Amino acid sequence: MADIRRRIAQACARSGREVSSVTLIGVTKTVPPERLREAIAAGLTVFGENRVQEAAAKIRALHALRPAPPATIRWHLVGTLQRNKACQAVELFDLIHSVDSLAVAEAVARQARRLGKCQSALVQVNVTGEAGQHGVRPEEAEALAEAVAAMPGLALWGFMTIGPLGAAPETTRAAFRRLRQIRDDAVARHPAWRDAGRELSMGMSDDFEIAVEEGATMVRVGRALFGERW
Ligand SMILES: *Cc1c(COP(=O)(O)O)cnc(C)c1O
Repeated sequence: MADIRRRIAQACARSGREVSSVTLIGVTKTVPPERLREAIAAGLTVFGENRVQEAAAKIRALHALRPAPPATIRWHLVGTLQRNKACQAVELFDLIHSVDSLAVAEAVARQARRLGKCQSALVQVNVTGEAGQHGVRPEEAEALAEAVAAMPGLALWGFMTIGPLGAAPETTRAAFRRLRQIRDDAVARHPAWRDAGRELSMGMSDDFEIAVEEGATMVRVGRALFGERW
């Protein structure tokens, strides 16, 4: 963990950014609750899961351990959300990174209103256009963001992408730069988003330093913190 924090700090220094402008999200899919407790003890406070069911079981198990996790722990859904899991997702997660269609946005908003919650969300964009990747097309990102921002029950926090997997660094950098440009253009046209709608969730174990250099405000790191998944 100290090593990852140091690498984030170095990437911030290279790009003239404050370390405090980047949130490290520990992605804990397949990682057992005991390991999360160790990570919490080491100072990690934000956790990302990619499946609603797994997260629900893990959060329960973590709370059953003693000492219980501090109230300051935040849970983020980083994986794809199926509409029939929207209710549980709204109950569990502080931030949903994966709003990738109007239908998903509406399902989340409806459940949030029902639960009396304002659900924070990011619009997921498929910047690379890779087939099989989730996210709206870049040219649709702003329209979906507008819909999210206007929906009672939802709060737009910004944008998220998954970089091209196994790509050359320049390709990865171009993808992250593209998402930042989408965000910058959208914020320029929507001054109300300047304070709360400008988060950029991008960067994973293999590319989080490039993402930080390109403006990521949240990096989602799994394997580099918790080891390979099997
Ligand atoms: C698994 C996952 C991550 C973390 O990936 P690592 O390569 O383990 O760092 C980040 N974001 C999403 C959406 C994921 O599914």
